[in-house]
Amino acid sequence: MIQLYIPLNFLGVIYREIKQSLADMERLFSLLNENREIADTPEAKPLVTRGAAVRFDHVNFSYEAKRQILFDVDFQIPAGTTTAVVGHSGSGKSTLSRLLFRFYEVDGGGITIDGQDLRGITQDSLRAAIGIVPQDTVLFNDTIEYNIAYGKPGASKEAIVAAAKAASIHDFIESLPDGYNSMVGERGLKLSGGEKQRVAIARTLLKDPAILIFDEATSALDSKAEQAIQSQLKEIAKNRTTLVIAHRLSTVADAQQILVLDHGRIVERGTHPQLLAANGLYAQMWQRQQANMDDEAQEDELAGLAPA
Ligand code: ADP
Ligand code: MG
Repeated sequence: MIQLYIPLNFLGVIYREIKQSLADMERLFSLLNENREIADTPEAKPLVTRGAAVRFDHVNFSYEAKRQILFDVDFQIPAGTTTAVVGHSGSGKSTLSRLLFRFYEVDGGGITIDGQDLRGITQDSLRAAIGIVPQDTVLFNDTIEYNIAYGKPGASKEAIVAAAKAASIHDFIESLPDGYNSMVGERGLKLSGGEKQRVAIARTLLKDPAILIFDEATSALDSKAEQAIQSQLKEIAKNRTTLVIAHRLSTVADAQQILVLDHGRIVERGTHPQLLAANGLYAQMWQRQQANMDDEAQEDELAGLAPA
């Protein structure tokens, strides 16, 4: 019995290990799979950026044949400026970022960066030029150092530490028992939403991309943590071509351009004051969110006043 028990127990451990790495593999394969139809053409050239102006030129797109998701989406992000995309859930905002990253091919129209059509450039060079800070950062089961350096394989320790400092997570890392060698992820330290976002920001800073995408990067955070990270995101976005997909409109009010997406169409565009003056969908969404914020503030106040 004992002889049997030990190997079985041991197998259990191995099984759990394998299962865990399968979960990682699945994640990897789902990324690869998403991308299975896209291959570099033999003539594909590396992207050459000069400021990285982005242009969506009358883009039509559907994931499945019978259901069109984007309709004639046409806009430009001038080099070094920020464009925000707002709209209800399911309106197609994240699809824009997936197309810019070329996880999928457009059905009609085209996307260019500094005049170079995505279909004519190598995917490696495209992905090296774009940094994404997603809504929910997935950490690898590895050291925190590895997780930051992931943005730029072969980065020096000095560069990693500098990025961590700029993302305001260096002090936290130093306070961990194993410092930069601390294991994180599902099998290591569980980081809070804010800490994970800071790792993602450090990763992006290290990568130093010409183009940035923030896809609801702070929507999982409470508004206090959001405010703290928001100022850092602004700092990173300075002088980079940036596409911000936003949930809370207050976080994009100072973007140079705001696009309002509704059922896959751009229905309004302009600056925050222009869109408020237009008194359309954006103004409605703004008023609704302001009212909700008043409620939240009131709740906070009441909570503060309530006897403990
Ligand atoms: P948003 O980011 O604005 O919430 P998305 O761009 O993620 O919206 O999605 C737009 C529409 O495309 C939604 O109706 C969604 O269900 C659909 N969609 C998203 N991803 C896929 C996919 N991989 N396959 C099929 N439909 C999808
Ligand atoms: Mg989305």
